[in-house]
Amino acid sequence: MSMQRLEGKVAIVTGGASGIGAETVKLFAKHGACVVIADIQDYLGKQVATSVGTDKVSYRHCDVRDEKQVEETVAFTVEKYGGLDIMFSNAGVAGSQSNVLDLDLNDFDNTIAVNLRGYAVCIKHAARVMVARKTRGSIICTASTVATVSVGGFDGKGYVASKSGILGLVRSTCGDLGEFGIRVNSISPYLVATPLATRVLNMDASEVEEIAVAGANLKGIVLRPIHIAQAALFLASDESAYISGHDMVVDGGFGGVNKTFDFILKEEAA
Ligand code: NAD
Repeated sequence: MSMQRLEGKVAIVTGGASGIGAETVKLFAKHGACVVIADIQDYLGKQVATSVGTDKVSYRHCDVRDEKQVEETVAFTVEKYGGLDIMFSNAGVAGSQSNVLDLDLNDFDNTIAVNLRGYAVCIKHAARVMVARKTRGSIICTASTVATVSVGGFDGKGYVASKSGILGLVRSTCGDLGEFGIRVNSISPYLVATPLATRVLNMDASEVEEIAVAGANLKGIVLRPIHIAQAALFLASDESAYISGHDMVVDGGFGGVNKTFDFILKEEAA
């Protein structure tokens, strides 16, 4: 297998200034891709681009809530690097955590605008250039464990609704784009100690990792951004050439395992 799994490919990574996105930018570049980081954190985004140390990685200010900015970022990418093969739609906000009884609808709207509408916009404009240029592209969206499992403590209503919506959006757009040879998939990570997670849980990174480890099904390993980046690399590369409409769960089995009865039976026996 070639060490350069994305040689000759061009990618956009939204939310590439931080966390999972930043790690993915570095991994894609290491595997030979040209990458445009699309984010609203200009200072951090430029830092990530500089840290890679090659003109194959650029930063572009792009608020995914604004369709024009996404369209222009796609055009910028095609102009600068000669095409677009991979769209990693990954930008996200957690929104506020509240019971539905106290739901703040402005916050709900903003979370949906970034995490779901923003994804539809990224898929639309990436697919348009891929179709026009006859590129058999790969579109990858970051969903979440909470798209399929209700996880207490990490269940902002806008967040859960948006992440569940991404799974439907992926299924539907994968249906539209199959005839053009374009694949659309999602990745659903378990808890990772990124700035999004530390902010929403109001903890520092080591505390987030502690609770992630305590709640994890798979023991002896801590889920880190690089593990999600590796899943994105697989879905971006030709190694996943026939995979489309798939949600790649990166949760160590968390979503499929419910230990409630274990605890109840152990307590009864004690
Ligand atoms: P992060 O905060 O480190 O990164 C998110 C990035 O998205 C930031 O750089 C931020 O500036 C950018 N962003 C936010 N709003 C934007 C907008 N309007 N336009 C463009 N960029 C915008 O957090 P992360 O955990 O790396 O998040 C990446 C993705 O992973 C998100 O979609 C998140 O929901 C998802 N996710 C995270 C976890 C976790 O536990 N960290 C778990 C499951 C899914």
